[in-house]
Amino acid sequence: MTTLVLLHTEADGTLSRQSLEALSAGLAMGAVQVGLVGEAVQGAADGIATCGATVIFTVEGEGLAQPRYATDAAAAEAICRAANAELIVAPGTSRWMRALPGAAQRIGAAVDSHVAAISADGARRWLYRNRIEGTFSRTTKPWMVLLDSGAATAWTGAAGTATVTAVAVDLPASRTTVLRVEAPQADQQTIRPDAKLLLVAGAGWTKKQKDGQTHAAEAADLITGVLQQTKASLGSSKSLVDLGSEGESVLPFLTHLHQVGQTGASPRHPKGLATCCHGEEPHVVGWRFINERRAINLDANCGWARRKADVLYVADAFEVMRELRRQLATR
Ligand SMILES: Cc1cc2nc3c(=O)[nH]c(=O)nc-3n(C[C@H](O)[C@H](O)[C@H](O)COP(=O)(O)OP(=O)(O)OC[C@H]3O[C@@H](n4cnc5c(N)ncnc54)[C@H](O)[C@@H]3O)c2cc1C
Repeated sequence: MTTLVLLHTEADGTLSRQSLEALSAGLAMGAVQVGLVGEAVQGAADGIATCGATVIFTVEGEGLAQPRYATDAAAAEAICRAANAELIVAPGTSRWMRALPGAAQRIGAAVDSHVAAISADGARRWLYRNRIEGTFSRTTKPWMVLLDSGAATAWTGAAGTATVTAVAVDLPASRTTVLRVEAPQADQQTIRPDAKLLLVAGAGWTKKQKDGQTHAAEAADLITGVLQQTKASLGSSKSLVDLGSEGESVLPFLTHLHQVGQTGASPRHPKGLATCCHGEEPHVVGWRFINERRAINLDANCGWARRKADVLYVADAFEVMRELRRQLATR
């Protein structure tokens, strides 16, 4: 099967880890052409010069510096037409998720997003909130698949000097001007998909403790402190984020976007630490892709104890986190 791996560069001209994962996945399918879209892509092409691609198609220009549907879809369409591949593999980044379905429609391709893996047997996708994994394929050619992050090991290899084939395309005039990017400071951004550790806070942090009082302010301090020290990503149980919307005193930095579970997210991190959270099935199902799971709970019979965690610390999370902060500070 002829395969095109279609990638876009990041703001700094590099390829993201998710793009390099899509490259690995595509290379495993056999002979691969690569398409690169961005403001200036030669650096990115050089970075993957030794990947074994038969040809690297490029569309570059100032108009592609910012993600924008009209220009991105036009660039992607031009590369897909030049490559004329049967399978188009792309990373499911927010930029491509917005532009590629439109490009697929223009070239008459079938398109599937949230694909977890692709092989000669077809595409794999998680169904029913990540409880069932299904394999499917399509007869329509071309077939475009957008891969979720973690679908393959990111490609690594020596850089070189890549010979690229520029594809001519008249980018549509843009009616959108990007004035600036407003993003929270790195420390304020607590959802960090690339972090090694996921720290999950449960409703126990806001419950009455052994002195009969609640200690939400100290809980907030401990959690944010550990996040700053470890650069972990923050998750929450549904109960804790729901308490906030019900007007109760909770941790101010938690939103529903932090919720892990059946009706929340299924983040991917090598390790996870659940604190003050019971470990009920609708929550734990969101830990599907966390490799090593640990939990701190006062209750030795909590859900985590039922083979849901690799290690359960039966302890007071306030005390453990205070000690953890102390030890991290002396490192
Ligand atoms: C259809 C459906 C979908 C759902 N989807 C989700 C979902 O996506 N995500 C989700 O999280 N939930 C989901 N739920 C809710 C889920 O079933 C639980 O109600 C929820 O996860 C419980 O949250 P919790 O563990 O934080 O709170 P609790 O059950 O109140 O547990 C608090 C825990 O904190 C412990 N604790 C208290 N103080 C301390 C301390 N000092 N040190 C250590 N431990 C302490 C207690 O022992 C207790 O185990 C769903 C439910 C349904 C019915």
